[in-house]
Amino acid sequence: MEDSNEFRAEFHAHPFFEFERYSFEDVINEAGKKNLDFLALGRLNRDIYPELQKHAEEIIKTGGYISSIEDKIIRITNKRTLCDVYIPRMVESRREIDIITIGKSSGFEDCKTVEHIINKTLEEDEGNIIILDHPFVEKDKTFKNIDKNTEKYIENLCKKYAGDVFLELNGYCVPWMRKLGGLIFAGKPAEDCNKKAIELSERLKQEGYNVPVVSDTDGHFRYKWSLGGLDKAAMTFDRDKVFENASIPDYTNLIGNMKKQIMEGNYKMKPLNEIYVGALHQFCNFALPAMFPKTFKLPRA
Ligand SMILES: [Zn+2]
Repeated sequence: MEDSNEFRAEFHAHPFFEFERYSFEDVINEAGKKNLDFLALGRLNRDIYPELQKHAEEIIKTGGYISSIEDKIIRITNKRTLCDVYIPRMVESRREIDIITIGKSSGFEDCKTVEHIINKTLEEDEGNIIILDHPFVEKDKTFKNIDKNTEKYIENLCKKYAGDVFLELNGYCVPWMRKLGGLIFAGKPAEDCNKKAIELSERLKQEGYNVPVVSDTDGHFRYKWSLGGLDKAAMTFDRDKVFENASIPDYTNLIGNMKKQIMEGNYKMKPLNEIYVGALHQFCNFALPAMFPKTFKLPRA
């Protein structure tokens, strides 16, 4: 039974509408079925928010939905179920490492570094959410551990931006698949990158730096059936706190309110072993296209 005072959020999901295997409406309905209130949809190095705004305009024409399409958040209400889904601006950017920004998804073309992206994101709004996603995964080689220099770089970045960045626990980084993939592709098993993120967060906390971990799916939804994994790693917040002084109609401060709750430790995640998508899901939607980039269209996000 759903606790009506829960607000469930997924911060990192990649839709592939261009394959035309499912529609925007399918995603909204699946989110509704899963009691997902907040769903950050984005792509790697590409701002898809304008496309999402167009999709939202299209589905309100069907008559089944009400939508407010604002600059930072699209709110869609299913008229039949009265479920609301909030879809924020989000983009995943690749520089020295990968980084997710929620609340800002454009204007990074001239940003050569992660720090530049962070500064720009915070300058625009201190409430924007910033996540260092799968920080312990080599950005171009999924099954390779990062080197010591990159580890140091991440630690320094966390110290500099403590209170403003989170470390990601990633629902696609299935530990046994990383071990096996590492053995096959890099000659040694890849480490459990999520455990490493937890360890870093805890160590930083002891040193006086607040850099919490957050869980998300990083779902690459290439097929309609794979949308079933949409909320696998969703986090849970207290609904009242998320909507505190909600700025209506744009709801922009929902993002800042969640950020504050995370910084204060007021959120729930599933136990780590429960955030992972199934092996078949991961294999078909991510590993296989990544292994055969010439065979699969858009092999990465
Ligand atoms: Zn991603």
